[in-house]
Amino acid sequence: MTDTDGWEGDLRDTGLALKHDREWDYELERVAEAVTEQAAETVGLQFPEGIKRRAPNVASDLEAHLPDRVQIYISGEANFGACDLDMDLMRRTDVFVHFGHSPMVESEGVVYVPLFSNVDVEPIMAEAIEHLEPGEVGLVTTAQHMNKFDAMQAFLEDRGFTVQTRRGDERLTHEGQVLGCNYASAKVPAEQVLYVGGGGFHPSGLAMDNPEKDVIIADPVNNVVKPASAEKFVKQRYAAIHQAMDAETWGIIAGTKIGQRRHGIAEQLAAENENASLITLDEITPSHLKNFGLDAYVNTACPRITTDDGPQFDQPLLTPQEYRIAIGEEPMDALEFDTFEGTW
Ligand code: SF4
Repeated sequence: MTDTDGWEGDLRDTGLALKHDREWDYELERVAEAVTEQAAETVGLQFPEGIKRRAPNVASDLEAHLPDRVQIYISGEANFGACDLDMDLMRRTDVFVHFGHSPMVESEGVVYVPLFSNVDVEPIMAEAIEHLEPGEVGLVTTAQHMNKFDAMQAFLEDRGFTVQTRRGDERLTHEGQVLGCNYASAKVPAEQVLYVGGGGFHPSGLAMDNPEKDVIIADPVNNVVKPASAEKFVKQRYAAIHQAMDAETWGIIAGTKIGQRRHGIAEQLAAENENASLITLDEITPSHLKNFGLDAYVNTACPRITTDDGPQFDQPLLTPQEYRIAIGEEPMDALEFDTFEGTW
């Protein structure tokens, strides 16, 4: 994926400038307590891509809290969400720590460290409300800013807004939380939604999934207020569908990551088309598909690989619904953003 869930604003050490600096609490004392409680001899650490560069220092700081016998491993696998726990490292270590995402799947024994942002959200919200109509507004944010959610709501209410929030579904841990693949929290009656959080990854999905709503982005990390737009994405999706209409052979991708498995959908699509092959894949990249030589692919794993990375693939990469449009089972104007709402 081109971006990570919640960490897209972290530009430090990249040569780019952050308007607001950030430090995180890695909760190393809590991790050390888990190690002591379980008399652990091995600890596995998993970090999102955006903060991986800090992993060696965090591991070394943690070492100072632990007895000499404890061996620490850092997961080197790519990570973009709690949907993607390093199951191999998890099995091989006594304590497994996942930094930066909120719990998503049944993962007993995993220590989750949320890494809440310490950025002050009020200045950018003060600017953002100038772009809202008075009255009802939906409020959403990412796991990273969840610690400020009550304050965000109070800020809006103090200024006369009626704030509508909801907890999406079981994929989401918190009220008002969104994921790149799940915007169920934004399904409120209000016609406008305020997204408070960093970057463009989440709001672009929010706009794609809610084309009927006005979505305003208040980005406290990069100090930007702007409307979210799905226009570019929608154009790209239509182009990919048109390109796939001539396909004779299809690959149906069944993702193997723990929180990205929609194998039932993948099996059904493959069973319905005698020219389709069911392909299991962990990392879905152009190079992994290159040697199959099929005409087009359907991705049932992370929908953001399709929408955000799709144009980088040599053959068209479609969502399950886009596939149905391409083969003529659904009309073009039925196009919807693919989500993991209610599915695993
Ligand atoms: S499946 Fe959802 S949570 Fe996982 S990487 Fe994709 S967008 Fe993020």
